[in-house]
Amino acid sequence: MKHTDIKVLFSNPTSYVDTTVVVCGWVRTARDSKTVSFVELNDGTCLKNLQLIIDKEKVDVDAIKGAMVVGASLCVEGKFIVSEKNGYEMQTQSITVLGECPQDYPLQKKRHTLEFLRTIPHLRVRARYFEAVFAVRHQLSLAIHEYFHKNNYKYVHAPIITGSDCEGSGEMFRVTTQPWNAKYDKEGEYFAEDFFGKKAGLTVSAQLEGEMAAMGLGKIYTFGPTFRAEHSNTTRHLSEFWHVEPEVCFAEIDDIIEIAEDFIKSIIQNVLQNCPEEMEFFNQWVEKGLIEKLNHVLKSDFVKLDYTDAVEILKQSGKEFKYTVEWGCDLQTEHEKYLTEEHFKKPVFIVNYPADIKAFYMKQNADGKTVAATDLLVPGIGEIIGCSEREWDYEKLKNAMLKRGMPLESYQEYLDTRKFGSVPHSGFGLGFDRMLMYVTGVQNIRDTLLFPRTVGNL
Ligand code: ATP
Ligand code: MN
Repeated sequence: MKHTDIKVLFSNPTSYVDTTVVVCGWVRTARDSKTVSFVELNDGTCLKNLQLIIDKEKVDVDAIKGAMVVGASLCVEGKFIVSEKNGYEMQTQSITVLGECPQDYPLQKKRHTLEFLRTIPHLRVRARYFEAVFAVRHQLSLAIHEYFHKNNYKYVHAPIITGSDCEGSGEMFRVTTQPWNAKYDKEGEYFAEDFFGKKAGLTVSAQLEGEMAAMGLGKIYTFGPTFRAEHSNTTRHLSEFWHVEPEVCFAEIDDIIEIAEDFIKSIIQNVLQNCPEEMEFFNQWVEKGLIEKLNHVLKSDFVKLDYTDAVEILKQSGKEFKYTVEWGCDLQTEHEKYLTEEHFKKPVFIVNYPADIKAFYMKQNADGKTVAATDLLVPGIGEIIGCSEREWDYEKLKNAMLKRGMPLESYQEYLDTRKFGSVPHSGFGLGFDRMLMYVTGVQNIRDTLLFPRTVGNL
């Protein structure tokens, strides 16, 4: 259908004013008076609605009736004109109702609770809130690609079906075509009969493949879905989330921290610049002071805090934590929140975690107790990035794996990267959906994507 995007009309109005244009969209509101009717039309290309002025004497009455219904889809021809009140509006000449919208359309009211909207994921994308979320989600993805492209990273696509559990935390979804009632004596026999001839699952992280790619391409990133069968029923966990994972050769822990900070600031800046209307919407309706918060983040230096010092700060905070803090413990959400929201009030990198609570591939520090790993914590969310320098010494890596009882034969290819021309290298994983929460102020990760997957909810 030949028509013009409403976004195009609003972004370049002078070239359309007083010309006849065709627009398509859905009715957001409809208001009737004796001689004139008003319809707010939205086509999804921008947050702004186009107001249609319908002179009842000039437009076919039957068409008007069907068009005065919230949710109906229209194709409208009219003159795009300057209006004192609205900036621009359309003097309607003809209306075609494309799809009628009966009374049981759930989005009749202007504002619904997010809880209610979560029950109609297939329709909620028509609400203004989600239109804004998806516009920023799009821009944020673009910003990520732009950042890496500009800095000579290659975008690589890692497999989603994999035979190895990167984190070794057993949170993998299985992939199988085995009949449900297959009977085998041994686990190995069972999996040998399966599609791949071995046990397979959905990736929890593309890191290991990413490292192999970086070892030839220098700097790479992956950006794809990651799956975790964790039972964390929180506002920050999904079973299927989008994961941005750069891997950088010739970079040590301080280099990757610098990159991560630059990257976070760059993508925030990009969204602020390119989504002013949506960001204004979030600032007004979702998180008061959001834009100021983000501008402050752009200007401030992120804190770099040693894990050992973090433990001291927490111990001396005088706060009553549910989980007591001792050197060697994993920091809980309450601790992370205290550090980033109350103590520093800005993003914090916690560096040099105890080796025992972190993954096998992290670079072992000279103290023999800690690893060159860091999490980036931000106010309001907690961890958004998990990062480390990778252990690049063959023997040390092998020993870390043996210590954890890992089957070396399954990781031979990974170990090869340390055997043939090994280099210092580092990388991180950014939870894309969490990052989107951070830049929009959206409080629940379930509201950042089309069809959220969480435990018990498909
Ligand atoms: P958390 O402790 O919050 O569960 P994690 O330590 O398991 O996070 P990593 O394995 O380091 O996280 O993954 C890297 C990043 O991926 C995290 O910093 C976070 O932003 C994101 N992430 C991890 N798990 C999830 C999840 N279940 N849903 C959404 N994002 C996630
Ligand atoms: Mn987790």
